[in-house]
Amino acid sequence: MTSKTHKVYSVSFALIVGMVMYKNNITVVNYYLSLLILLLISKQGALFPDVDHIWKNVKEKTTVNWIINKLIHITGGKHRSWQTHSIDIWAIFGFITRFLPNYLYNKGVIDIVNKEVLSLVLIGFISGWGSHLFSDMLTPEGVRLVCWNNFKLKFVPRAVGRLKFNTGGSWEEFNYKTMRIINIIIGVISILLPFIPNITILITPNM
Ligand SMILES: [Zn+2]
Repeated sequence: MTSKTHKVYSVSFALIVGMVMYKNNITVVNYYLSLLILLLISKQGALFPDVDHIWKNVKEKTTVNWIINKLIHITGGKHRSWQTHSIDIWAIFGFITRFLPNYLYNKGVIDIVNKEVLSLVLIGFISGWGSHLFSDMLTPEGVRLVCWNNFKLKFVPRAVGRLKFNTGGSWEEFNYKTMRIINIIIGVISILLPFIPNITILITPNM
């Protein structure tokens, strides 16, 4: 998928993650403020995996992206690289996201305010990255399940009859337009959520 489609997927993921966090009291940060942070960081997380393109095709030519791009290419990656398009690597970062802020807080390295902000930033990033992997699974190239193996996870074949599922075609345009509508619906629900009584979204024990 292209960056505009990855961005719209990142919005729905961020809103859903924000609502789940709110209903399970995962952060003490104000709900609407946490939604705002999640949305902003999730977008960055969704654009980050495709920094593995050759440099001239990377959209945001920032210093940070240049460094990430060089690291990926030096270690043998090319587009849909194992470094940024593997579910196991994403899961490892998810694990770090889950435990690092609490670890640093318990060690006295950061205070409670910084722990909460760090958590939100990491959760936003991992949410956006996850949305990227999910939407790339809606293309025939798919994403790696594990970084050391070429096996790809994907939800669609190369084509069904005349309908092709490739990036940049009518399938992607359909995804983009559908997700924009879904984002409006989820956006309205997320704004109203604190006023809707007794709605349970997800119970996440130990979170
Ligand atoms: Zn990608």
